[in-house]
Amino acid sequence: MIPPPVIAALRGARHVVALTGSGISAESGIPTFREAQTGIWAQFRPEELATPEAFAAAPARVWEWYAWRRTLVQAAAPNAGHFALVRLETLAPRFTLVTQNVDGLHARAGSTAVLELHGNILRTVCSKDRQVVESWTEPAQPPPRCPACDMFLRPDVVWFGEMLPMRQLEAAMAAAAACDVFIAVGTSGLVYPAAGLPLVALDNGATVIVVNPDETPLTSHPTVHHLRGAAAAVLPALADALTATR
Ligand code: NAD
Repeated sequence: MIPPPVIAALRGARHVVALTGSGISAESGIPTFREAQTGIWAQFRPEELATPEAFAAAPARVWEWYAWRRTLVQAAAPNAGHFALVRLETLAPRFTLVTQNVDGLHARAGSTAVLELHGNILRTVCSKDRQVVESWTEPAQPPPRCPACDMFLRPDVVWFGEMLPMRQLEAAMAAAAACDVFIAVGTSGLVYPAAGLPLVALDNGATVIVVNPDETPLTSHPTVHHLRGAAAAVLPALADALTATR
């Protein structure tokens, strides 16, 4: 059951922003970082794999971890949560989708103009100049090297301690400041600067909705609406409620 004030806020909104985290892709079978520490990877923490320092110290290990995660992403499909966001996009006069995910599932579901704050795991770039590299020779000892300059290739993702892509971050900040409704889906709200976006929306008077089975730092805020549950169940219910009341 979606609370009536949530439906009213969405019906009256001129600009809706949704921010997604790895929780929305959990039901597509893509593990969050914590869940991805299984099997042979259980002995490493994300900080030992998803940092520039880790890549410098153990490039083969980091490349192989990403290669494994890339196979998970390629085998996955968007779920009901991703598709519900496509519906919500069509229902709002203006809709901005911001994601911390690197799996590309929003675009595959049909969302348009997604702001990818943390890059995309399916893109590979030269570690020196960040130029996208489409094809390379897989060496016996990974990582492969850039065909142009012979430096290591790496996934086009933002590692802990790296800068976010400026254009996407600025667009996300501007949308958070201007929106009437902000929906935070499947994100723990711990990883900044993305975690600051709902706070910007709150400061500017937006209605903030959290979709998450668990508590997050945002859910204790007195004006935040917490829709407790999995994104693949809650987001379709939200889109249904909005359509039913039109
Ligand atoms: P996160 O900040 O994205 O937290 C995941 C949140 O999802 C938690 O609050 C959890 O309670 C919630 N959740 C779990 N299942 C859910 C469901 N079915 N529906 C709704 N919410 C659910 O934390 P993280 O996983 O540590 O990720 C940190 C960063 O790592 C991300 O921001 C991203 O850049 C990267 N990452 C991306 C992917 C991906 O692209 N799918 C996967 C893992 C990590």
